[in-house]
Amino acid sequence: MSEAQKRSNGAWIFYAVLIFAALAFSGVFGPSGPREVPYDEAISLVKGGRAESAAVTAEEVVLTLRPPPEAAPPEGAAPAPPPPPPERPGIFDTGTGKKPDQVTTGRIPGVDREPLIEALLAQNVRLDARVSRTPFWVVALWWIVPLVVINLLFFMALRRAGGGGAGGPLGMLKPRTKVYDRAQQEPVRFTDVAGVDEAKDELMEVVDFLKHPARYRALGGRIPRGILLVGPPGTGKTLLARAVAGEAEVPFFSLNASEFVEMFVGLGAARVRDLFEQARKSAPCIVFIDEIDAVGRSRGGLGALATHDEREQTLQQMLAELDGFDPRATVILMAATNRPEVLDPALMRPGRFDRQVIVDRPDLAGREAILRVHARRVPLGPDVDISAVARRTPGMVGADLANIVNEAALAGARRGAKRLDQIDFDDALDRVQLGLRRRGVIMTPAERRRVAYHEAGHALVALAMPQADPVERVSIVARAVSLGVTIQVPRDQKYVMTEQELETKVMVMLGGRAAEELTQGEVSTGAHDDLGRATALVREMITRFGMSRRLGLAALTRTVGAPLLGVTQEEKLCSEETAREIDEEVRERLGELYMRAKGILADRRDSLEAAAEALVARETLSGEELSRIADSATRPKGKVAGAA
Ligand code: ADP
Ligand code: MG
Ligand code: ZN
Repeated sequence: MSEAQKRSNGAWIFYAVLIFAALAFSGVFGPSGPREVPYDEAISLVKGGRAESAAVTAEEVVLTLRPPPEAAPPEGAAPAPPPPPPERPGIFDTGTGKKPDQVTTGRIPGVDREPLIEALLAQNVRLDARVSRTPFWVVALWWIVPLVVINLLFFMALRRAGGGGAGGPLGMLKPRTKVYDRAQQEPVRFTDVAGVDEAKDELMEVVDFLKHPARYRALGGRIPRGILLVGPPGTGKTLLARAVAGEAEVPFFSLNASEFVEMFVGLGAARVRDLFEQARKSAPCIVFIDEIDAVGRSRGGLGALATHDEREQTLQQMLAELDGFDPRATVILMAATNRPEVLDPALMRPGRFDRQVIVDRPDLAGREAILRVHARRVPLGPDVDISAVARRTPGMVGADLANIVNEAALAGARRGAKRLDQIDFDDALDRVQLGLRRRGVIMTPAERRRVAYHEAGHALVALAMPQADPVERVSIVARAVSLGVTIQVPRDQKYVMTEQELETKVMVMLGGRAAEELTQGEVSTGAHDDLGRATALVREMITRFGMSRRLGLAALTRTVGAPLLGVTQEEKLCSEETAREIDEEVRERLGELYMRAKGILADRRDSLEAAAEALVARETLSGEELSRIADSATRPKGKVAGAA
C-alpha cells in the first residue's frame, strides 16, 4: 500500500466515525417512538374503529392501532405489544413490520382530552394507564451500541495513525513508528538510487560516520545532526534516506509527518516523542521524518487554520527532541520536503536540520541511469535502447521513470512476450506522455486530413530548421490530451538557450496552424494549445530574457516562488505604459515568426502534402520515415538559415 493510500484510509475511518456519530445522535438508529398525529386525526382514528388499545398518561394519549380493515390479517394474528426490537431497526424499519402501529397525540392538557376519551369509551377500546412502548433497556441499548461502535472506530483510526501496534487499548493510544526491518524487507542500497550523484556523495559521508563513529569522534569532528533532503516529488528523497540506512546497516525509523496532522490534537507530539525514544534505544540508527513541511510549516503563516494547534504542538515537540539529543548519540536525523520555502526557520538552526541536500530532477545521463536501475528487474530484448528512452523523457523524475519501465513490462505482458522490446517502451512512453489512446474518438475523414496537415506542419518546420530538436515521432492517433502529436527530442541536455533556438521553437509551434492555413484554406480551433504556448514563450523572451530590440534589456517581470520546484508566479515590474508596449511587441514578434514558418512550408509544399498523405494512411511515422518521405517528395532548397 502506498503511503498516500494509507493516509486516505485513516481519513476514511475518521469520516466514517463522524457520519456514524451524526446518524446515531440524530436518532436514526434508535427505536422510533409513536408517530405524532393531530388531535382531530386521533379522534377520527378512534371513531373509525382503528384503535385497539389506548394508553392515557399525564402527558399524552397513545393509541395502538389495528391494521386498516382492507389489509386486516386473520383473527389472532394481531400484533402483540410490547414488541421486541426488530433485528435491523432504525433506518431499515419502515414501521410496517412486526412492530405495532402506534400514534400519539403529543402533549395535551387533561381538559381537552374529553372528546377523545369519550370516543374511546364509545368504541370500547381497552384503556391503559401506561404506555407500552419499547422497554427502557432497549432504548438504553440503542444509545450504548453507537457509542461503543464510535469508540471502536476511533481506536482503529488511532491505531492506523500509529502504523499498527500491539498491547491493548493503551497500546493503541501509544502509536508506533515504522521500522524497516532488514529481516522482512530487502534493504535499499545506493546502487538502487541513480541520477542524484551529488546528493549521494554528501550522504556517503553520513554512512561512513554511522559505520565508524569512533574514528570521527577521535578526531573531534562534528557530524551534522540533521539532514534535510530538498527536492521535487518523486526524485528519490525517501529512497535515498532508506539507502543511507541500508548502506550503513542500521535501523531506520520513519514517520510521515502528513499522516498525523489530520488526526487528533496531541497525537502528533506523542508520536514524535515515541519515535525519538525508540531511536535513542537503538542507536546507531536513522530517524527519518518524511514530508516534514506538513508539521514544520512556519508558525502563524499560511496554514493558521484548524490544524494549527496540532501542528504547533508537534513542531514544538520535534524541536525539543532535536535539542535534547545527546550529542554523543549516534543517531542521524533526516527529513524530506518538497516545499523548503514554507518550513519554519527554527527547524534549520544549527544543531537541528542544519544541512540541506538538494535532490534535483535528473538530467539526461541521470535519467538513463535511473532507467537502467529499474530495467535490471525486467528481461530486455536486444533492440531496447535505454538511452533513446531517456532522451524522450525530459523533465521526468525517478518515480516517472520507474513508472515507464513498469508500463513497458505491462505492455510486454499484454503482448504475451517473454522479454521487453523497444516497442513496449515506445508504447509505455506514448501512454505516459500522451495518455491512453482514445477509442471513442471517430474523426471524419476531413478532420483526419486536417490533423495530418497540422502535425506535418509542425514536423516539417522542425526538419527544416537546423536549431530545432530532431523529430522523433509524428502521430495522428487521438490520445487523451490531443488529436495528434509531434514529439521532438533534444539532442542533448540544454542548460541555456539562444535567441535563435527559442525562435525556432516558436516557429515549430506555429507550424501546425500555418500548414492548416496553407492547405485547408481556413484555420481551425486545433491550434489553440500551440498558440498559448507560443505566446507564453515569446512573452518570456521579451520580458525576462531581454530579447526585444524595442524594450531593451530590462527584466520586466520577476518570478516569485521556488524555480527548482516549478511553482513560480510572474510579477510585473513595469508601468502600465510598458505593459501595453509588451503586448504590442508580443503580437508583432509572433506574427513575424508565423510568417517565417508559413514561408518554410510554402517552399516545401510537396513535402507537406506527401507527409500528410502518409500520416493519413499510417497514423504514426518515425522521424526518419518522415524525413525520407519529405526528401523524396521534393529536394528542398537546403536548410533555411536560422536568422531572418
Ligand atoms: P520522493 O520521496 O522524492 O517523493 P520517492 O523516493 O518516494 O520520491 O520515489 C518514489 C519511487 O520512484 C522510488 O521508490 C523509486 O522506485 C523511484 N525513484 C525515484 N527516484 C529515483 C532515483 N533517483 N533512482 C531510482 N529510482 C527512483
Ligand atoms: Mg517521498
Ligand atoms: Zn499543434
